[in-house]
Amino acid sequence: MAGEGAHAGTGEPAGIAGYVSPYPYLDRLQEKMEERLARKVPVKGRFCGFCFGRLRESDAVCPFCASSIDTAGTVDEIPQDVLKAYQAKQKTEGLWVHSGAFSGLLLAMALFLLMVVWGPGLLGHPALAFAVLIGGGYVFAQLFGTFLGAQIGYRKGARKRDSMWARWLESHRR
Ligand SMILES: [Zn+2]
Repeated sequence: MAGEGAHAGTGEPAGIAGYVSPYPYLDRLQEKMEERLARKVPVKGRFCGFCFGRLRESDAVCPFCASSIDTAGTVDEIPQDVLKAYQAKQKTEGLWVHSGAFSGLLLAMALFLLMVVWGPGLLGHPALAFAVLIGGGYVFAQLFGTFLGAQIGYRKGARKRDSMWARWLESHRR
C-alpha cells in the first residue's frame, strides 16, 4: 500500500511545540514545499505519487514518506490542492509570529507611555523609559513573536495543513 512505513522514522523528535503530526512526512516536506511555493525550484520534476516529495532518478523508495516508488508511482507536478495545505501552514504560522511580535512592540510602547506619564521618581525618567521602549520592544517582540507566536502558529498551522492533507487522502484513495 502506498504510504506504508510513513511512520517508520525512528529517532525523530516527538513532535514540535507540543503537537505531533499524524503525518511526519508533511513536516519533512514543509520546507521543500515552501521553496516550491516561492518558485525557487522548478515546477516540473519527478515527484512521489503518494506524498509529492521530489525524487532523484536513483530513488526506489521515497525519502520523505518511505513509499515504494513502484507502488506509489510518480507525477511530474505537485497538485495545487496539496500545495495549498502547505501554504495554509506557512501563512498561519507567519501570522502568529508577526502579530505576536507586534503585540510585543505595543506592550513596550504602553510601558513607555506609562513610565513617562505616571512613573514616580527615577521610573519616570525619560531616558529609562526610552531604554524600556527599545530594549523591551526587542525582548517582547522576540518573546511574543519568535517564541510564543511561533509555537502557537506551528500548532495551528500544522493542524490546518494536516486536516487538508487528510481530506486530500480521503478523496484520492485508490
Ligand atoms: Zn513520498
